[in-house]
Amino acid sequence: MTDAATADFLPILSAAASPARWLVVSLHDVAPHTQTRMEEILRELTASGIKCTSLLVVPDYHRTGKAVESTSFISWLRGLEAEGHEIVIHGYFHQRSRRNGEGLSTKIVTRFYTRDEGEFFDIGYDDALERITRARDEFRAAHLAPLGFIAPAWLLSTGAQRAANEAGMQYTARIGSVIDLMTGEAEPARSLVYSTRAPWRCSASLVWNAALARAADVRPLVRLSVHPGDFEVREIRRQIVRLARRFVGTRTVTTYRDWIAERRIAP
Ligand SMILES: [Zn+2]
Repeated sequence: MTDAATADFLPILSAAASPARWLVVSLHDVAPHTQTRMEEILRELTASGIKCTSLLVVPDYHRTGKAVESTSFISWLRGLEAEGHEIVIHGYFHQRSRRNGEGLSTKIVTRFYTRDEGEFFDIGYDDALERITRARDEFRAAHLAPLGFIAPAWLLSTGAQRAANEAGMQYTARIGSVIDLMTGEAEPARSLVYSTRAPWRCSASLVWNAALARAADVRPLVRLSVHPGDFEVREIRRQIVRLARRFVGTRTVTTYRDWIAERRIAP
């Protein structure tokens, strides 16, 4: 990837001239086993002006153990929450079990697009409610205050969206929008997100996200999603940091939680 393809795209506008412009950076797959990597990512983002993020925490990643049972992990999260970061429930296990007789379209979405990570893609209402409620209660018992639910890979069945609402979640998000569960309003905002599973996906991600960033520049809300593996690929790490710095110059950095609150009181 050349610098030309990932260079800045539009003239910088002054933040004062465009007050209703926001940036939400979300860190996906936060769990005890990704903590060290996430700390490194947060250090670099903070140095780039990202003072708060939405942290998408998996309650029991791939059934490897409950996050709330790691005291060092929970105290790290509490510290971040106290600094203004937000804790978001991100699935429960983050993994979807394959089923017999799955059709081609289901296989494409759940295996090719997400590699079996679409836990809430076709989950029923009852199961979704049980998992979201369990996550909420575990996090609350650990003195964390989640108000949002975002499904792994943003794949959320209709029943699961209803369950998130029933569990008292204030909002959810899909790849193309953020949905206020209290009002039912959806704000169109396509998230920037990278795929690092293969070299061709990395290259495609860089080009695609550069184009998305240009398109997002005119929208009120920009969403930048970061996964633990993103910083292992030098070009992707550089582009994320470059985009973060550029958006910081023109937008207010916020969390989904605070953005939803702001939107509700906006005239
Ligand atoms: Zn995830």
